[in-house]
Amino acid sequence: MLNIEKPIRMCISCRERFSKRNLLRLQCIDKKLMIYDGIGRSFYVCEDCCDDTKRVINSIYRQCKNKADYKEQFKEMVRIWKTK
Ligand SMILES: [Zn+2]
Repeated sequence: MLNIEKPIRMCISCRERFSKRNLLRLQCIDKKLMIYDGIGRSFYVCEDCCDDTKRVINSIYRQCKNKADYKEQFKEMVRIWKTK
């Protein structure tokens, strides 16, 4: 049974569903990856995929609709997220 009190979102990489609080929410603006600030389009990455940049990078390219250099940016986002 899906608990409707917990918002469930899908990871863009493994496409599994998780509670929102276990997902890193990002957005891509002008080829910059950043933590979602509440405005515009966003996407989610689960904790497992956060540890595997190679796996998630193609999904990020797809979300951002280009292939800018997101690898380092992504790692930085994960680092920020995990230290919170
Ligand atoms: Zn995932």
